[in-house]
Formats: sequence, structure tokens, C-alpha cells
Amino acid sequence: MRFADIPGHEEVKERLRSLADTDRIPHALLLEGPAGTGKFALARAFAQYVHCQNRTNGDSCGRCPACQQHQTFNHIDTIFCFPIIKNQKKKLSLCDDYLPEFRDQMQQSPFMDYDQWLLKLDNINAQPVIYVDEAAELTRKLSFTSHSSRYKIVLMWLPEKMREEAANKLLKILEEPHSDTIFVLASDNSRQILGTIYSRTQRIIVKRYPDQLVAQYLTSQFPMDEAEALQTARLAEGSLTEALRLISLSKERTKYLDLFKELMRKAYTRNVGDLKKWAADTAELGREREMGFLEYCSRMLRENFILNLRQPSLLGMDQEEYQFSQKFSPFINERNVLRLFDQFNKARNDIAANANAKLVNFDLSLKTILLLKN
Ligand SMILES: [Zn+2]
Repeated sequence: MRFADIPGHEEVKERLRSLADTDRIPHALLLEGPAGTGKFALARAFAQYVHCQNRTNGDSCGRCPACQQHQTFNHIDTIFCFPIIKNQKKKLSLCDDYLPEFRDQMQQSPFMDYDQWLLKLDNINAQPVIYVDEAAELTRKLSFTSHSSRYKIVLMWLPEKMREEAANKLLKILEEPHSDTIFVLASDNSRQILGTIYSRTQRIIVKRYPDQLVAQYLTSQFPMDEAEALQTARLAEGSLTEALRLISLSKERTKYLDLFKELMRKAYTRNVGDLKKWAADTAELGREREMGFLEYCSRMLRENFILNLRQPSLLGMDQEEYQFSQKFSPFINERNVLRLFDQFNKARNDIAANANAKLVNFDLSLKTILLLKN
């Protein structure tokens, strides 16, 4: 990650650069500010800048061995620390056990926030934390001298998720810092960090992104006009992550609506051959997205039932959904709505339990034929 890969935040970048250039790097730096503003990306860019063997124009070169190792999360003197969920069965107890998932997700979305990490961990009901074992592991790792560079750098994502015992252990390290160790913490909610740790860090505030900058970023990455980009930026309230999420949601919603329409039209015309194809196409969404799709179907059924009851004030549909539903809603009524819900829920649970998606979908489409005729 280079500074140039991160939009905006010029003042923060300048400050980080000058700390490294003048070799006045504090033992503990804290980047604090709202979620979705690229704090951890800045921390990564800073670490790469510190380790780069050929800094050019105020940025890391991106080509030297150190930069290449950073870009693949393999730099030997860089330690990642982030919230995880312990899993005794699978023997997952340390950040290193989760590094492949963390790396994947960070490469896919460098501005990842906590919610995305929960989805990646496939357990939205859990509360990932930084355990005391991790702090012990950190102490162990820091007791070795750095391998290839002058500094070992610990990049800690969301220090506010540290368990109290972990925080106390970390405090001990910060009280007697090794001269070759730098901590860079990136926090969405610094008020939850233990006060004694907070006061030992040099703080840099990372502000929310201006709407204009988010909009500019969106138009540079996606085929959308300025007005649309600005509207998305306003909804995202200064979070780039949220803006990207809104875009992928609206794309996903269009895809889901197309599949939903296809299912209902083909079930209505009892086109079994086409439904077989529909079942296979839908299975290609993959497990996670198919579960999202089936939840979407339940929502559409509910909205259509409400529309049929002529209570439009409760509607949460967009224009395209509404257009389709005006004609479709008469088919969703007291006689079939509950049984339809049951079938879609059952399909969702089967998919969650790793059943064969093509079969589940085909079976669901046949049930839909019968229930629509009621
Ligand atoms: Zn370099």
C-alpha cells in the first residue's frame, strides 16, 4: 500500500512522511477517526514507507523487495494484530491463524471496516476481540531483533477491541519499549481504548472524507455521473467504505430483482425447463450471496403482500421493484403468503447448511409454481 493508493488525507500523509524522513518516529502512533476513512490503509502505507529501501517523491517506491513484501502482507518485520474469534475445534486462536482471511479481505477491500470483517469471518453474531494470548504472542515476537530492517512495526487494527488483560499486557510493552519497535494503532473509537494506553500514544486525527472527494473517487472508479456519485457520497457520511458498500448493494439488488422476477414469471407460466436453468444460474451466486438473495425474496414477498393489502405507506421498495410489483402483488395473498415464506426460509436454511444449491433452487421453484396457483 502506497500513500498514492489512498485518496485525500494530504495533511496526515505529510505528517507521517516527515516523522519517517526526520527519523523522529514515536514508539506508539494512534490514527483515530470515524470508520471507513482509510486509517488502517494509512498505517500500512506508513509502514511500507518506513521500510522502503528507495523512497521516491514522498512515497514508497512500490518495487524494492521490502515494498513487494508489504504489498503481499509478507514483510518479515511487520506484525499484524486485529480482532478475531477463537475457535477451539478448528484450532484458531491467534491472528496468525487468521492471516490468510485477513490478507484476502484487505486485498479485496483495502478500506475494510468491522462489519465487512464480521461477514468474512462468517459469523455475524460473534464479537471478535483481541485476546490476551495475542498480547503474549506479541511480547514473544518482539523479543527477537528485527530481521531485515531497522524497525519492527506492529500494525494494530481496532485496538479498542482489546480485552482488558490484553490491554494491560500491551501497556507493559509500551511502558518499556524496545528501541527498534514501532506500534501503529488504527482506531474507529478511541474513547474505548484504555486511558493509560491512549495517553502513551502520539495521536493523529483522521477526519471524515469530504463528500466532494468521495464523489470524485466514485466517478473515477465506476460508470456513474456526478450527481449520482454526490448523492451516494452524502448518504455515506464521509465514509469511503460505506459509499462502496452502497454501490455494491445497489448492484446486488438489481441482480437479485432480475432473478426474483425470472422465478416468478417462469413459475407462473409453469415453464419447468427454464426453471431448471434458473436454478442452476442462481446456484452460481455462491453460498453467501444466495443466502442474501433468498432473504431478498422474503422481503419482496412481504412488500408485495402489503401492496396487495393496499397499505403503500409501509413500502420500502425502489422504483424498479415497485414497477414489477404493481402487476405481481395480486398473486401474493392470505392463502399463500405464509407458505411461501416457509419455503423461502427453508431454502435459506438448506443453503446455509451447505445443501446442493441447484437441487434446493429447483425444488423451491416447483413449490413456487404450486403456491402461486392458489
Ligand atoms: Zn520500496
